[in-house]
Amino acid sequence: MQQFRYNDTGQWFKGNLHIHSTLSDGGRTLPELAKLYADAGYDFLTRMDHWVASDAAADTTSYPLLWLDGAELDGHDYAGGYYHVVCLGHFEGISPEMGFVAAIESVRRQGGLLILAHPAWCGNSMDEALRWQFHGVEVYNHICHWLNGKSDSRAYWNAMLLRNSDTLGIGADDAHLRANNQVWNGAWVHVSAPELTREAIMDAIRRGRFYSSQGPDFKSIELVDGHIEVQTSPVRWIRLVGPNMHGRREGRLDSTSIDQASFSVPTTWEYLYLEIEDENGRRAWTNSLFTYSD
Ligand SMILES: [Zn+2]
Ligand SMILES: [Zn+2]
Repeated sequence: MQQFRYNDTGQWFKGNLHIHSTLSDGGRTLPELAKLYADAGYDFLTRMDHWVASDAAADTTSYPLLWLDGAELDGHDYAGGYYHVVCLGHFEGISPEMGFVAAIESVRRQGGLLILAHPAWCGNSMDEALRWQFHGVEVYNHICHWLNGKSDSRAYWNAMLLRNSDTLGIGADDAHLRANNQVWNGAWVHVSAPELTREAIMDAIRRGRFYSSQGPDFKSIELVDGHIEVQTSPVRWIRLVGPNMHGRREGRLDSTSIDQASFSVPTTWEYLYLEIEDENGRRAWTNSLFTYSD
């Protein structure tokens, strides 16, 4: 049965799902990253080092924010497609020697969330994005914006949503923070969860109870009497986005800002999500507002 995805817990926890440390090719240690991001208002970060399956629960160091587990895997599949995949969760027995396909299959068996990383930057075809039934995709990757501008993968996300409306859309830093590369804090997620624990945050991410942002905020996302009611920070546009050419919008061309909107629920769209855009063109996205799997 179709259910509204968001249930307002009253608590949004800010985090980043894609960060590299000195455990792979990042320039900062885990304590340095934790302090940097905690000082910028983050509640959690995710260890996403290349082919390093992290185990935050076994780390006895005290940090000013919560660490989630993960590993970024890369390689070619049977048909020659080249991928980077952000894998959320704690895994055993992952190594480059086993190859990309075996590693991805192992992560899936162990209950990991498979997020297709920066497909625009990798140059993936749409077929490649659809081939592996990823749980989600990076809608926006901040370091790719700095590398060559190929940071925007909304087209992939919409194609993936058309096949599976639960496909998660994620904005992430992919920060490496090396001497020649200090790019960070350009995209993040806000997770609606009852508490800031690894279990509660991961459960909420798995259910898609988060939004991704480059700047603007959703304050509340509710279904009231058959209408989608949304409150935001001041923005230029609030859009209800559906497949292909489908969409509705509130906002004004005269650059006046708005902070709320109400949309009736379309009954024929295969999926729908909210997108807001501020006066600087920075956007934020919910996941698809209705889910069939809960
Ligand atoms: Zn990558
Ligand atoms: Zn990365």
